[in-house]
Amino acid sequence: MPELPEVEVTRRRLMPELVGRSFTGVVLRVAKLRLPVPAELAEILPGLAVRSIERRGKYLLFDCGCGWLLVHLGMTGFLRLLRSSTPPGKHDHLDFIFDNGQLLRFHDPRKFGIVTWFTGSPHDHPLLADIGPEPLTDSFSGEYLFTATRKRNCALKQLIMNSSVVAGVGNIYANEALFRAGIRPDRAAGTLTHQECMVLAGVIRAVLEESIGEGSTCRVAEDTVAYYPQNFSVYGRGSGECSGCGNRLEEIRLGNRSTVFCLTCQK
Ligand SMILES: [Zn+2]
Repeated sequence: MPELPEVEVTRRRLMPELVGRSFTGVVLRVAKLRLPVPAELAEILPGLAVRSIERRGKYLLFDCGCGWLLVHLGMTGFLRLLRSSTPPGKHDHLDFIFDNGQLLRFHDPRKFGIVTWFTGSPHDHPLLADIGPEPLTDSFSGEYLFTATRKRNCALKQLIMNSSVVAGVGNIYANEALFRAGIRPDRAAGTLTHQECMVLAGVIRAVLEESIGEGSTCRVAEDTVAYYPQNFSVYGRGSGECSGCGNRLEEIRLGNRSTVFCLTCQK
């Protein structure tokens, strides 16, 4: 599932290709995604230029001057830049065609993604209004995390995956950050000390930044802007050995999500 780093890498790869380009058409093949894709996009977008591409949590926001094209990749979505003559394949639900003969194609087998249009401030949009601080900005800090965890009995991993607490940290990076911070994912959030919050906030930022860095240099297919990192310490390694102590990693379910950690290295 795309998390903050994958969405940010997608944004950085699309920016130089699309900023300043004008839409010339929209081809909508499947409108039934998590929210219905508005058919009016085909009337609204032609003639508008992309001014910028921003990100809020896991949402991409294409600034089109008079409004915003909002894209969420859902569970399995990705965007590809292709020549406009490229025939669509299965699950290619939507194309945005540009004035340079390229198209931006939205592919999403599970159809949990979102593509929609809105005018007004992104801060007020119902999908974006409750998103917490961006973890790569100064609004997210150990001090903030300490305040946010007070009197919270839920498992710490579920708290940091809650987008109203911090934006864009999903299952992969929650597992990885807690391993690196040496904190058990099933600890009650409110038991964290001030020092542990300082460490964890720094580690969350570090794992996200490292992943974005890998993504910007990783080899991907020429036409694909999707990026899924490899080389995790714990995520997806439920039966493996801990890279810290060599003991077998534990795997449990928390909030119905796979959670992997080391009983020795994480307290
Ligand atoms: Zn260990």
